[in-house]
Order: sequence, then structure tokens, then C-alpha cells
Amino acid sequence: SVYERIERLDGLLRAYITVRPREEVEAEVRQRVEKARRNGGLPLAGLLVAVKDVIHVKGLPVTCGSKMLGKYVAVYDATVVERLREAGAVVVGKTNMDEFAMGSTGETSAYGASRNPWSPDRVPGGSSSGTAVALAAGMATLGLGTDTGGSIRMPSAWTGLYGLKPTYGLVSRYGLVSYADSLEQIGPMARNTRDLAALLEAIAGFDPRDSTSLPGKPRGLVEAAEEGLKNGARGLRVAVVKEFMEHPGVHESVKKLVEAAARLLGDAGAEVGEARLGREVLEYSLPAYYVIAMAEASSNLARYDGVRYGPREPPQPWEGWNTYYSRIRAKYFGAEVKLRIMLGSWMLSSGYRDQYYIRALKMRRIVRDRVLALLEEYDLLLAPAVVAPPPRLGEVVDDPERMYALDLATVVANLSGVPAAAAPAGRVDGIPLGVQLIARPLGEDRLLRALGALEA
Ligand code: GLN
Repeated sequence: SVYERIERLDGLLRAYITVRPREEVEAEVRQRVEKARRNGGLPLAGLLVAVKDVIHVKGLPVTCGSKMLGKYVAVYDATVVERLREAGAVVVGKTNMDEFAMGSTGETSAYGASRNPWSPDRVPGGSSSGTAVALAAGMATLGLGTDTGGSIRMPSAWTGLYGLKPTYGLVSRYGLVSYADSLEQIGPMARNTRDLAALLEAIAGFDPRDSTSLPGKPRGLVEAAEEGLKNGARGLRVAVVKEFMEHPGVHESVKKLVEAAARLLGDAGAEVGEARLGREVLEYSLPAYYVIAMAEASSNLARYDGVRYGPREPPQPWEGWNTYYSRIRAKYFGAEVKLRIMLGSWMLSSGYRDQYYIRALKMRRIVRDRVLALLEEYDLLLAPAVVAPPPRLGEVVDDPERMYALDLATVVANLSGVPAAAAPAGRVDGIPLGVQLIARPLGEDRLLRALGALEA
């Protein structure tokens, strides 16, 4: 069972920061299954969900992978958690993650790095590392992650899972601790397409408590996945993005898996071609992403000052407030978070703002326009999910340029606001590696159909 695996494996793999007591969870499962029986079925009746520890679940700690939140316990449920409950699911625990979702390997967590279950000396990918590990090792059935620049798709790709970043605004961010609001979305992770679709359908839809929430509620997502599983990808126009296949930063093994996925989709009835996004897209994406993400982070994380948020310590009689804030922030934030707050504040400061932040916004606009234009011609773009197999623990975490370079293929969708998903495509040295499909805004149904076709 899930709890036996947690007991046996989680000491080594570190998927969870908080696990709910078994009796409590089992009682809730019985309750939900009973309710499903009375209601003539619930879409996720009795399924156990692992929730990234940056999302509020009432009564459980929210750590964000940081020591900064101290012993904070959530006093309300995020909208997605409310919706999970209504759909019959049960939260089993809160999962490990890079601190405040800043990282690509899971190693910036203040609670120790998660390990890749397929090869424990390698990273599982981040920042939704714990959710991926929990699912891959059978320590939950469904999982929630967040994706600001790839944090759902990358760990999914490295642990053999399906993971989807929804269209910006499709899933409410109410109850999510913000890192870079204009880029991020909560999204589903699962071991198969059907579960992925069911989970997305449960959490998606308008929420008046999130001002960026889109109107309406998507329907037919499970049917779309099933259609793909049964009848393939007939009629879908898919373009392999050439720039990724030519890029020296993309590992040969990854290029081969993208080609294999293209053949599979072709065999499943899709019209598969090749297309270009234009030179600027790959050139601008990473710098634009990291400037915008750091700028927003520096503003969002300003609230952790040891007065309004964060651990309160007695101020020393000789120190002023600024010294107090600095002392608390120096003590409780990790190195990656500090680096980003400092760079972000600098890039927003007068004199540098035009040179960095404003230019990054212009680059973002160009990237988005190119992506949306190509998605007028094609239903889906096929690309790597991540440019290389997972590094060993400790290999890249202290080398920001190498760590950030791993995000080359994922940040494009966040800058553009479009939905994108990772799907397993094969193995390299026995470790899973995924590919990525990108769709136009609200194209989740087509995305899920293609994922179903790949899985079948
Ligand atoms: N690796 C990227 C970053 O560190 C993406 C993280 C994420 O999607 N949360 O910003």
C-alpha cells in the first residue's frame, strides 16, 4: 500500500515533508467512497493525492521547502484542494520541493534533496521534486505540482510521469504561495493520461478569488484522453520544433527520443511536420524568463521580514528595523533564494529597470507572438521536455548557469501562457526521459488526446 511504501522508501527518497496519519487518511477515504456511492460516483473517489508544499491544505504546515515559514500551518484550503475534496480525492501529504520553487533539481530544499527513484544518486528534477518522486515510487496515486518555468514538466520527464502545465488562468492560484505570478500555474501529475485528465478536470475552472482566473470550466478532458488512447491522433497537425533539434545544448539522446515520439504520433494518425519558431525564441527565452522570474520573486518574497510573515524573533535593543529584517532574512532564506532576491531587486532598481526588466518584457512579447503564430498553423508543437538526462546530486546546483540551462525547453510555454505537457518517451541508461507537447491557449483537449495516443 501507499503507506507501506512511504515507510519503506521515503527515508531515502525524501518525497514528503509532511505525511498525514494513516488512520486519519484511511477514515477519509472510506468517507469519500461512501459519499461517491450515495452520489452515483465521484471522479476521484478515494484516490490519494500528494500536494506540493507550496499549496495551502487546511490544518497542515506549508513550508515552501524553506525554513522561512517556521511552523506556519494553513488556516484555509487552496481552491484546487477544495475541488479535489469535492471530487472525492484525499490528500496524503505535502511534498518536498526546491525552496520557494526556485530550482530545477530539488536540491535547493531546506529539507534535504529528493532522490530519483530510478537511480538514487541522480536528481528527480525540480522544483516539484517530491510530488514526482511520490508518484514514481507508488507513494501516492495523483499529484499536484506547480510550473513557473518547467517545474511540473521537468520532474515528470525524469521520473517517467505525465505532467501538464495548464493554460495561464485555467487553474486557480488562490492558496498558492507566489514565486512569479505572471508565469506560474498549478497543474496535475500522474502515471497515465487518464488520471492526468481527470485530475485536471477536477481542479480547472473559474475562481472569483483569483483575479487572473479565466471564465468557464473545461469539459470533456477525460473523453479527449480516452479518445487518444483508443483512436490515436488522427487529424492533429504536429510540428517538431527544428531549433531544438539543432541546438548544441540539447543532448543527442533527447533528440532521438523526440524523433521517436514524432514517428509514434505519425503512426497514430497525426500529420507530423517540422517547423521553425525563429532564432529569437530560443535565444531570448532563458534570459527573459530569469529576469522576469527574479524580478517578481524579489517583490513577492519581500513580505517575509520576520514581522508580517516569517519567524518572529525578539529585536535586539541596539538594532533598527532594517537590521532586524536583514538578520531574519539572512538566517532563514537559502542561498538560491537570496541570489534571486538580490538580482531581482537590482534589475528593478532605477537606472537598471529599462536595461533589464523592460527589455525582458519585450523579449517575452516576441517569444509569445512567435509561439502563438506557429500554433495557428499547427495544433501541437513537439519538443524536448528537458534538454538532458538528470544530473547526479550535487552536479549542477552550485552552478546557476548550468542549472538554468536545463530549462531551455520548458520556459517557452510559461512566457507564452500556453498549455504544455511532458510524456514518457523512453529511457537513457535506464532512467526515464520525456518529451514535450505544446498547444494553443485552452488547447488542453488536443494535448490530452495526443498524450493518450503516445501512451497507447
Ligand atoms: N527552474 C526554474 C526556476 O528555477 C523553474 C522553476 C519552476 O517552474 N517553479 O525558476
